[in-house]
Amino acid sequence: MNYYHKYQAEFMEYDAMAQDFIDDDRIWAQLHKAASPSKAAVREVLAKAERKIRLDPEEMAILIQNQDQETINEMYVLANKVKREIYGDRLVFFAPLYISNKCANNCRYCGFRRENKKVVRRTLTMEEIADEVKTMISEGQKRTVLVYGESPETNIDFICDSVRQVYKAKWGNGEIRRANINCAPLSREELAQLKEVGIGTFQVFQETYHHQTYQEMHPAGTIKSHYRWRLYAQDRAMDVGLDDVAIGVLFGLYDWRFELMGLLYHTIHLEEKYNGVGPHTISFPRIEPAIGTPFTAQPKYAVSDEEFKKIVAILRLAVPYAGLILTAREKPEVRREVIPLGVSQIDAGSRIGVGGYRQSTGNMLPDKEQFQLGDTRSLDQVVYETCMMGNIPSFCTACYRAGRTGEDFMAVAKSSFVHNFCIPNAILTLKEYLLDFASEETKKVGEKAIEQYVDQMADPKRKSFLRQALVRMEEGERDIRL
Ligand code: SAM
Ligand code: SF4
Repeated sequence: MNYYHKYQAEFMEYDAMAQDFIDDDRIWAQLHKAASPSKAAVREVLAKAERKIRLDPEEMAILIQNQDQETINEMYVLANKVKREIYGDRLVFFAPLYISNKCANNCRYCGFRRENKKVVRRTLTMEEIADEVKTMISEGQKRTVLVYGESPETNIDFICDSVRQVYKAKWGNGEIRRANINCAPLSREELAQLKEVGIGTFQVFQETYHHQTYQEMHPAGTIKSHYRWRLYAQDRAMDVGLDDVAIGVLFGLYDWRFELMGLLYHTIHLEEKYNGVGPHTISFPRIEPAIGTPFTAQPKYAVSDEEFKKIVAILRLAVPYAGLILTAREKPEVRREVIPLGVSQIDAGSRIGVGGYRQSTGNMLPDKEQFQLGDTRSLDQVVYETCMMGNIPSFCTACYRAGRTGEDFMAVAKSSFVHNFCIPNAILTLKEYLLDFASEETKKVGEKAIEQYVDQMADPKRKSFLRQALVRMEEGERDIRL
């Protein structure tokens, strides 16, 4: 059977639909209507955002179209405030693990696309996965996202086996406690299998919400060319009870203003259909140069650093309870600038070549990479800097392991839960990192950050629990969590 026909029967469900929830003309009409908004109109939207209520498309359009520097600055200040109120000073850390770069698709922007002869193809064996994971754990990682191309070699049975292998690997006191998945859209049957092996978040990026651009980027005859199969990937996951889903856009394929509206419409669609449960996280990668991939050299819609700042701040305000993921595709100086505008998760110490954790020196393995990383610093260096910036690095996986996902997670995210649970859990997991993996310099700044946070805790019961837990950890106990 031609691989393209794999999901032919399932495609029919979507081909029969008169329309999907992305209406290109309506989005452009909303953006045009909001052109050059007054200061008063912008401030009205900011006042709603301050109450941490999800914005409507017309309101997001006003923030997108605003050109007035004074109110743009007000938006940045507010985005930082909302971030701190909802997430505290926490920054959750993870690292990707590239399992396979074999791919039957031909996405014009991706180094892994089928026709790219410059990339050496490889799928990790189960033993190699164990080796990669042990190296990651030895560097201090606790959370990962597993990344796969779309090929018969990485079918659902292989994906499930690889997840089991990741959870099985141990090194010293460490293990991976949460494996998220970034793979091609799957059928409901396949997603049910994935739920069984205990994945964290199921991520699929739409790449571009603009229908015509989508077809231009994804050649006909590839599975990926089916826009709606991808657009409803999260629905299918929710349908089988995999209620922790993530969405994203690859910025640089089409106009960033349209794509932001697409992300919001996707969020609203999920919230309306699934009892208020929207995406757990949103990703907003920018196209990076990839070997053998001329499209990436000068994409027409490349997003500038200034626009990128706006994208992060607008998302923070429009979808206050969705986690925002900033990847190491971005350079350290960009990361420093946009993290305060609303980012809640970053990767660090990442290697994106297949087999990269064990093999690469200086984090580079260009002939097996999908694109080039902008931030190649070690996890330890980024943890150090994060503490110096006044944030707490967190390796927490407590909610997912306690079954607080989907509706349950939304309920806790919208309360003071973050301050009562997430911050203490961040402190406990940072302590583990410092005890087992950190350099001397990082230990010093990390211990100081922990001391300050524990000192500031208002609730005496929680404070005393934390102090005792920290001592228990020094005596050898691990994985203490609330
Ligand atoms: N093959 C699966 C898919 O396409 O959904 C998942 C893995 S793919 C390697 C993960 C993501 O990498 C894609 O969804 C895309 O957004 C991103 N990506 C592809 N090419 C890129 C590039 N040149 N620069 C930055 N990100 C890229
Ligand atoms: Fe394959 Fe995903 Fe790359 Fe497209 S983006 S070529 S589907 S790995």
